[in-house]
Amino acid sequence: MLTIRADSVQKPIYLDCHSTTPVDPRVLEAMLPFLQEDFGNPHSSEHHLGRRALCAVDAARARLADCVDVDPIDLVFTSGATESNNLAILGYEPPQGRDTILVSAIEHASVLAAAYAREHHGYRVTEIPVDRHGFVDLDVLRNLLTDRVFLVSVGAVNNEIGCVQDIVRIGELAHCVGAAFHTDAAQALTAMPLTLSEWPVDLVSLSSHKCYGPKGIGALYISPAVRSLIRPLIHGGGQEHGLRAGTLPTALCVGFGVAAQCVKKAGERERQEVERKRNALRSALSQRILDLEIIGPETQRHPGNLSVRFNIGDARDMVELVQPDLACSTGSACRSGEERPSHVLTAIGLSIADARRVVRFGIGRFTSDQEVLAAVDIVGRAFTQCSSIAAH
Ligand code: PMP
Repeated sequence: MLTIRADSVQKPIYLDCHSTTPVDPRVLEAMLPFLQEDFGNPHSSEHHLGRRALCAVDAARARLADCVDVDPIDLVFTSGATESNNLAILGYEPPQGRDTILVSAIEHASVLAAAYAREHHGYRVTEIPVDRHGFVDLDVLRNLLTDRVFLVSVGAVNNEIGCVQDIVRIGELAHCVGAAFHTDAAQALTAMPLTLSEWPVDLVSLSSHKCYGPKGIGALYISPAVRSLIRPLIHGGGQEHGLRAGTLPTALCVGFGVAAQCVKKAGERERQEVERKRNALRSALSQRILDLEIIGPETQRHPGNLSVRFNIGDARDMVELVQPDLACSTGSACRSGEERPSHVLTAIGLSIADARRVVRFGIGRFTSDQEVLAAVDIVGRAFTQCSSIAAH
């Protein structure tokens, strides 16, 4: 129960943490020296400044590796999960006789687009259907898995409806037919502990700005089992063991490392706190707004994710009406501006009309109880306005 006065809150209220998260002050503090006096190039290790930068990058890689429980040598820094997904899918050199990629129907655009790009080179893409909560249909997956499949890509946590897939089961099934398994874990760092060493995964995409780190940095975990099958997409000075050329952005690497360290330290306690606030938002909105439908699963869900369907109007009007007081979104921000409704919402069986009435909220580390209460008030008022527009 939240009992704090809603009017004691600072606006704007940010409830769009799946789109991006604010940079944690500890992250910013750690980054600043590498934008100022410690500006050396981490690949210029002949001199002191370069060596200091290299040390910082190594420490950042070690922190990230510790957070996701892998060997630091198996992590390649990229510009974000989009690039990691592209490297995993386009950079994978299939073994002889295999020509098919399986992707879930609710993957992020950067997974789907990268997979379909391979169709131009004679490969085949098959989408694995999901149920009404977004979970991959394991029976269909079993039937789709033949010895022609070289890669299966299923996101760990969906950025729109928050469903958390059974990654272990899916990875095991992929391995049964000798296919590699990639998971886009961009949203997973804040959803659950990532113990990649215990997961049957070969390639895992990570993103810093989804876990209170800076934008423009991510990583791809590449297991030793598939290491020899990955080809770089960006060629140049041979950085990142030849897999991703370009000078590493020291400050961003440092920020990502500290962000990962903070996420690990915050652990289950933070996830429970975020979940408590998400549940408070859900029940207060449901009480205030008639016929509000919760989209996505009840359990096995990102603790901060809430996706709701209003019974009238258009989600775009709703999101616009709450400006500039509240940030929430009509679906994946990466696709916003598009006229088509989200492919995730239609894949789970919503009609186009219903998909257009879905608003996504994302609670995070810095969301306060007061903000949750105030958000309910703001959304409630916008809903009343939308209803009266619809009635005329
Ligand atoms: N995958 C998922 C599931 C995401 O939510 C996002 C960001 N919306 C991305 C990939 C892309 O991440 P980045 O911004 O780091 O490129």
